[in-house]
Amino acid sequence: MGPIRALIFDVDGTLAETEEAHRAAFNAVFANEKLGWTWDVDRYRDLLRTTGGKERIARYLAEEGLGLPPERIAALHRMKNDVYMEIVRGGGAPLRPGVADLIAEARDAGLRLAICTTTSRVNVETLLDVALGPDERALFSPIVAGEDVAAKKPAPDAYVLAVARLGLPAAQCLALEDSRNGVLAAVAAGVAVVACPSLYTAQETFVGALAVVDDWRRLDWRSLAQSR
Ligand SMILES: [Mg+2]
Repeated sequence: MGPIRALIFDVDGTLAETEEAHRAAFNAVFANEKLGWTWDVDRYRDLLRTTGGKERIARYLAEEGLGLPPERIAALHRMKNDVYMEIVRGGGAPLRPGVADLIAEARDAGLRLAICTTTSRVNVETLLDVALGPDERALFSPIVAGEDVAAKKPAPDAYVLAVARLGLPAAQCLALEDSRNGVLAAVAAGVAVVACPSLYTAQETFVGALAVVDDWRRLDWRSLAQSR
């Protein structure tokens, strides 16, 4: 394999512990609406097995033997998304340790930087603008977001598109992920991937990953490039 010429970053759990901001947003809405519900880390880890915010609320209701009309669930979810954006704008989803240094090192070494996520474009851009500033955000090209692909990770679609837009062979790209689904997506697209588990993926396994680090500060992509 040739040298690494691009780093492709996942967003949620990789750049930042965004699920903690999502959980805080759910809890703020539940409190504002005087529902008396609180999701702690363990409960939320379990609820995360269900994809989609509305679906997650519905599952919680079912588990608790509660009922709400679908339109009320939809309204709660809209409120939650608004609160989530406020939290992110307020700096409530900071970059994980080591991420800013990785970005700076890669930029200085002339590597391309890309984003490959299945969250929405507005969420990604807001997070990057707050954490890095608009100038640094512009270093990331392409930004492949949820709107760009029909099939979410673990399907390879988002990575296939990111590699195509980079215009590089997949073998010259290195993906950074925090979850099993993300690792599977990268591998299926022929992209080597390094995993660093996040708060909500620590119990997962990362079969197929080139390496697993417990902290992004321990990722040395230069020596990784030589060893693969
Ligand atoms: Mg992730």
